[in-house]
Amino acid sequence: MLYFKSFSSGSCGNCYYLGNGEDGILVDAGVSPRRVKQAMQADGMNLNAFSAILVTHDHLDHIRSLGAFCKRFPRPVFTTSTLHKALARHSFTRDYIDGCRAVLAEEGETQVGPYSVRWFEVPHDATQTVGYQIRTPEGTLVLMTDVGCMTDEAIACAREADYVVMESNFDVEMLMGGPYPYQLKMRICQGHGHLSNDAAAEALERYVHPGLRYVFLCHLSQHNNTPQRAREASEAVLDAFVSGASCSEEEFPRPILRVLPRQVPSPLFRLD
Ligand SMILES: [Zn+2]
Ligand SMILES: [Zn+2]
Repeated sequence: MLYFKSFSSGSCGNCYYLGNGEDGILVDAGVSPRRVKQAMQADGMNLNAFSAILVTHDHLDHIRSLGAFCKRFPRPVFTTSTLHKALARHSFTRDYIDGCRAVLAEEGETQVGPYSVRWFEVPHDATQTVGYQIRTPEGTLVLMTDVGCMTDEAIACAREADYVVMESNFDVEMLMGGPYPYQLKMRICQGHGHLSNDAAAEALERYVHPGLRYVFLCHLSQHNNTPQRAREASEAVLDAFVSGASCSEEEFPRPILRVLPRQVPSPLFRLD
């Protein structure tokens, strides 16, 4: 069994669960342990259902509650050596991270809780930002959030995945016509900020393959996007893929597309 759940996704906080209901991992800790616990209990699980935390980067919406997790639910916190150096200095984590420090191998896979994980770097304006390819007995999940622009390595990892969680942050028209100051607009869209709906759809076009089962769009902007716009851009790619595919729907069913809610927990998705 393999479940995936988002506790919150976006600039207000990010935290995701991947596991079988009894063991698994969290990715990022931008949501308080109390809220995670409540959401897990609502799905009939408890907070002991994870044995490690993965961190994608050192922006507050991803690590705000990492210190609280280390204090109240100490588990190994896995990330790169570069990010661990940043967490050891960061005012939100430096007093708590020491006993939980677990460094990912520079190359190849590392055992993280019950799964094998390898990381790849993505462009974004943090100390370092990484995406993850997580191998489980039931299938492989790739998670990439806060991606300034897509890289060949990220696409190659997603091509091997059964499940992909990918940022679809802003709609270009809404961002450009919206209230943000010019500098901030540029910061978001110029390659080291976030991924637009169109860029996410273009990426999907490159990595979609017959074994792809689920695509979750994450980290939507509150002011510069709507779930409908994000969904439409990527759904159009899936339409084209399905109509052009030489295989039958029974052999390779159409990948399921879901948009993760910003501030509330998603349903618990059963992936396998
Ligand atoms: Zn973020
Ligand atoms: Zn970020």
